[in-house]
Amino acid sequence: MKRALITGITGQDGRHLTQFLLEKDYEIFGFIYDIEKIRNSEFAKRFPTVKLIPGDLANQTSVEEAITLSQPDEIYNLGAITFVGDSFKIPEVTANITGLGTLRILEAIRISESCEKIKFYQASSSEMFGKVLETPQTENTPFNPQSPYATAKTFAHYSSVNYRDSYGIHASSGILFNHEGEFRGYEFVTRKITSNVAKIKLKKQLKFSLGKLSPKRDWGYAGDYVEAMWLMTQQDRADTFVISTGISHSVEQFVETALEVAGLEKNVSRYVDFDQEMVRPSEVEALVGDSSKAEKILGWKPKTDFKRLVEIMVENDLKIEASKN
Ligand code: NDP
Ligand code: GDP
Repeated sequence: MKRALITGITGQDGRHLTQFLLEKDYEIFGFIYDIEKIRNSEFAKRFPTVKLIPGDLANQTSVEEAITLSQPDEIYNLGAITFVGDSFKIPEVTANITGLGTLRILEAIRISESCEKIKFYQASSSEMFGKVLETPQTENTPFNPQSPYATAKTFAHYSSVNYRDSYGIHASSGILFNHEGEFRGYEFVTRKITSNVAKIKLKKQLKFSLGKLSPKRDWGYAGDYVEAMWLMTQQDRADTFVISTGISHSVEQFVETALEVAGLEKNVSRYVDFDQEMVRPSEVEALVGDSSKAEKILGWKPKTDFKRLVEIMVENDLKIEASKN
């Protein structure tokens, strides 16, 4: 039975990855920084066999202890301060957890007796491309990060590549474009849209507000993307891969599609007000990835298209909102 240690296991991708690896009969260890909160949570009920190890990516000793305790074949580093908007407000914490946290794991692997056995996955991000210097973005596109989140992720990405090159550590980096689903945090624009559209459909409210509607993202389904993470750790050679759908839509198009799926009038201005608070000091206007390397080497392709993704999210939020009545 293979053993996997997952940081950020309680987050969106952590949940999908846990489900995916349990189906492959893995023994799973979750690195958890607020263990009391998790013990009786919905997460613990859903995944009773996951072994919880207390730890904080800000604390080197806790990372080393987690590796000693779990003796993992694979480590998936999903833990991070993940919301770009917040990263402008807490840049130092973001650099510490999202950036240095990755370095702490790499260093713990380097000094571990199991160094040669462990396969490491780093959750890199399309936000590293920032104000893009090339379209579509590939593994060779230069980075141009535009937020504390993106600069921290760029540091973490290069640290993974550096430990791969310097010490031969099997450290793969997945440059994942935005991916969404039932477990997406409510602060992200997609979930904000689908949860509010569900409330409007159920006549709980009339409108909601958003920042800029023009930015474009290459949105995929998180359930598809965790398979790519796993495929990277199964390769003989560690490498860097872009994971994306290759198609981008604007925030406005996401709202229109959510309204349509919910059977509401496809009229954005009827339901959405502008919220200046949501406008960021620096905006990433358009991202779209080219994942042909992943298709060629990993045999990975997205399975869920944009319309289906929006349907999954709206249907899920309609159920959640209806159950609150
Ligand atoms: P989430 O925000 O849903 O989850 C983040 C996780 O990190 C949570 O489990 C959180 O714990 C944990 N965490 C936060 N601080 C610490 C800490 N100090 N020590 C240990 N764990 C911590 O993110 P996603 O699941 O969406 O993303 C997974 C990874 O992929 C992240 O690194 C993200 O930056 C990256 N990524 C995500 C993309 C996306 O579109 N989803 C795109 C590209 C990259 P808690 O819940 O207790 O706060
Ligand atoms: P990001 O790509 O990681 O920043 O993911 P988000 O879901 O947070 O944001 C995607 C895009 O939606 C960004 O360009 C945001 O500026 C834009 N956006 C517009 N209004 C909002 C909003 O109300 N909340 C969030 N989170 N993003 C918004």
